[in-house]
Amino acid sequence: MKPSRADVFAELGLAPVWRRRNAQPPAADRVARIAHMDWGALRAAVEGCTACKLAATRTRAVFGVGDEHAEWLFVGEAPGAEEDARGEPFVGQAGRLLDAMLAAIGLARGRNVYITNILKSRPPGNRNPEADEIAACLPYLLRQIDLIQPRIIVALGRFAAQTLLDSDEPIARLRGRVHRFRGIALVATYHPAYLLRNPADKARAWEDLCLARATHSSSQSP
Ligand code: URA
Repeated sequence: MKPSRADVFAELGLAPVWRRRNAQPPAADRVARIAHMDWGALRAAVEGCTACKLAATRTRAVFGVGDEHAEWLFVGEAPGAEEDARGEPFVGQAGRLLDAMLAAIGLARGRNVYITNILKSRPPGNRNPEADEIAACLPYLLRQIDLIQPRIIVALGRFAAQTLLDSDEPIARLRGRVHRFRGIALVATYHPAYLLRNPADKARAWEDLCLARATHSSSQSP
């Protein structure tokens, strides 16, 4: 039987032609392009992103929401089911707790506050983000941070804190002190979803929020 075109390419050790045409541009290229995008281009890139496997299972990419010149940036983990359906971060039960946490320190969603996630697409079944997904998505968050130039970043939960601080330490060790992310003050605290399951840690989260508020008050605009 005559070998197919795909068989011939495979025999030669070459990827099929269709895959070559559809391949992502080299990683460095993609990262450099994202690093120069304005808000419109960045949003469009996130909404159409196919850089990782989550593109196949998400309903909507969740870009982020709020004041594009906010002094406060809150970074969560990844969209859950409600966020995936609505295209907005933290709109489910954890989001209601986050809104209460914001109100407790005199803040409100969209008023000098920007909220986004490490991953812009929902992991199926709310499983943990995987390393390749974080690597593919991180350039978007880095560009958001560059555009916003916040005075303080609050990392919500282990994945946000460990990713931004490039650390393996547990959240219990990362919280409670002020870090720096590219010169910007960063305070890590527990994720609202964790606090819903572990209300005893709300007191520690409150301490972290007070630390963030004091750090913000004493910091200069970049
Ligand atoms: N949890 C997150 O980390 N982000 C959301 O947007 C919702 C829940």
